[in-house]
Formats: sequence, structure tokens, C-alpha cells
Amino acid sequence: MRIFDPHIHMTSRTTDDYARMAEAGVQAVVEPAFWLGQPRTNPGSFTDYFDSIIGWEPFRASQFGIRHHATIALNPKEANDPRCRPVLDLLPRYLAKDGVVAVGEIGYDSMTPAEDEAFAAQLALALDHDLPALVHTPHRDKARGTQRSLDVIKESGIDPGRVVLDHLNEVTVAAARDAGVWAGFSIYPDTKMSPERMVAILREYGPERVLVNSAADWGKSDPLLTAVTAAKMLANGFSEDDVDRVLWRNPVEFYAQSGRLDLSGSAGDSPTFAGNSILRGGS
Ligand SMILES: [Zn+2]
Repeated sequence: MRIFDPHIHMTSRTTDDYARMAEAGVQAVVEPAFWLGQPRTNPGSFTDYFDSIIGWEPFRASQFGIRHHATIALNPKEANDPRCRPVLDLLPRYLAKDGVVAVGEIGYDSMTPAEDEAFAAQLALALDHDLPALVHTPHRDKARGTQRSLDVIKESGIDPGRVVLDHLNEVTVAAARDAGVWAGFSIYPDTKMSPERMVAILREYGPERVLVNSAADWGKSDPLLTAVTAAKMLANGFSEDDVDRVLWRNPVEFYAQSGRLDLSGSAGDSPTFAGNSILRGGS
């Protein structure tokens, strides 16, 4: 089984996670830029983070045979902080880089005017840079947030086939399907979407334009829930080909629209990145 986790924040995960993911069949990941829990206080804090998710983190992943790409954006939550907004001017420099396969995560957190502005501005950047967009839907007031996100996406003029609307559930999936965007589902350990519920949604809506991710980060989450969902699909009558489609070919197709998805071999030939290795004890 080959798995592509299209949304996972590996910078907050350990090497044990990478090892377990590789063991479970995860061969590729996309790491969207997001907030870190601790509020950032200036744009320089973002640039170091962006450099890390397009430099050090792909190297770390490569040590486990996993391909790593990133998406770059000012996240919805920090779009509300005037100290962070100047990072919008720095984004074009990053959106031109090789390992960047989409603009994201963008969208709404609390649906404020500042979020409106950052969301629209970054969809425009996606168009300018000919990149897909990864749009996060709010965890509170999700139905309204989803509809409003779809309105903003439509107004932007971006092709809906180049947008994934993420963190969907049973209530919001139909609107996303109708709008022609890709439907993203984040599988969580205790709350929100579970592997069982995901299988039920796949049964009802089919595997087309569906992306399944773990969205694992520094919060309570599990990077193996993509593999658990794949096993649940097989146990519930889906074929190996269905599983390969949802957990590999779909994310490949979506991010290949960037023209930058590189799944050839492993970048792990070099044991060091800028002179630093993931090893300890002087080797
Ligand atoms: Zn995320």
C-alpha cells in the first residue's frame, strides 16, 4: 500500500513518527504552513519557518524515504494579527520555490474582515503563480464558514478544480462537491472525522476528488490515521484500487497541478543538510 498524506505538519512531529509512517506505507507528504500555537510576533518568524518547511523538513523526511513538499501562506488565524500581516508581501518569493506545491493554508478561522482580505489576496497570489490552493474551513460555525469560503473562491476566478476545501464533514461535503472543488477530510483520533465516518462518506459520494489526511500537528492527532482509514476501506468492501486512488493517486493528481510535484527517488542521498544530520552522537 502506498500513502500520500496531503496535509500534515511534520515540523511538530518526531523521527519516531516518520519511522512509523514509512512502515505503514506513507511515501509522500505535503506540509502546509500554519500557526504554531505560540503566536508569532513579526514577519521574520514566518520566513524562518517557511525556510524550515521547504529545507530542513524535506531533508528530515528523506532520511525515512518519504518525499516532502510544502504549501506556503499566511494562515487564517494569524491573518488577524497586524504584526503578522506584512508577511503577505514576502509570499511571492516563496511561492516561486521548487518544493512549494500550493498556496495554503488560507481561508477562515473566525470569519473577520482581516481574514476576508488575506483570503482574497492569497487566492489572487495562487492565480498569479499558477498554483493550486489549500483552503482550511473553520472548526466553529463550519457550515456557514464553508459556504462563505466557496463564495470567496468563486469570486476569485480560480478554477475550482485547483482548490481543495479541507476539514470537511458530513454537513459540508455536499456543498463542496456541488462547487466542483476537491473535498479534503482530516481524520482525528477522538473528535470530528473518524476513519469509520470517512468510509461512510466515501460510500455515499465516491472516491473522485477526495483527499484524506491526518492533519497531524502539535495538538492531539495521529499521523497513522491515513493508514487506518485505508484499512477500514478494505475491511468495508473497497478495493485495493479504490484505496490507491484515494490515498495516493488523488493527492498526486491534485498537487501535480503545481507542475512541481517530484516523487522520483528519495532526496535522502545526502546524510546532512547544511552540515547538520538528524543523528546524535557525532556521526
Ligand atoms: Zn493544518
